[in-house]
Amino acid sequence: MKIRLRCPREHCGGRVTAAMGSASATSVTCARCGSAVAIPRRAGEPAAALETCPRCGGREFFVRRDFPQRLGLAVVIFAALASCIAFALERMILTWSILAAAVVIDALLYLVTGTVTVCYRCRAEFEDAPYNASHHGFDLATSEKYGEYVP
Ligand SMILES: [Zn+2]
Ligand SMILES: [Zn+2]
Repeated sequence: MKIRLRCPREHCGGRVTAAMGSASATSVTCARCGSAVAIPRRAGEPAAALETCPRCGGREFFVRRDFPQRLGLAVVIFAALASCIAFALERMILTWSILAAAVVIDALLYLVTGTVTVCYRCRAEFEDAPYNASHHGFDLATSEKYGEYVP
């Protein structure tokens, strides 16, 4: 299992990923700004079914698709532009082929992506987290309970 954290530095927006269970690492350097991001010590302990967050102790999680949103968006924008050009050139079959290809690519991306488990409280993300039946999709009401988390 891996833990993914947002860089705590303001306006950085970088993300760090660390393998859980490596006792040696207690911090990871942010590739964007170079500041050290603390990895929780308890991350070294094996989490049977991820019931408490090793970082903040939160007990509620949601599961989301680890979908590369920028890539998905790029496919849609490219397809929209390309189909407009094809449409302007009155290539109707080409227009529909481009749109159909975009739909297929999007669906394939969705299929090949895994899921990440996210802590509602601190927004730490866990890759390859063990399956836990009590984790569901994102719930806005639960999320609002925690407000905006400031690390
Ligand atoms: Zn950073
Ligand atoms: Zn947490």
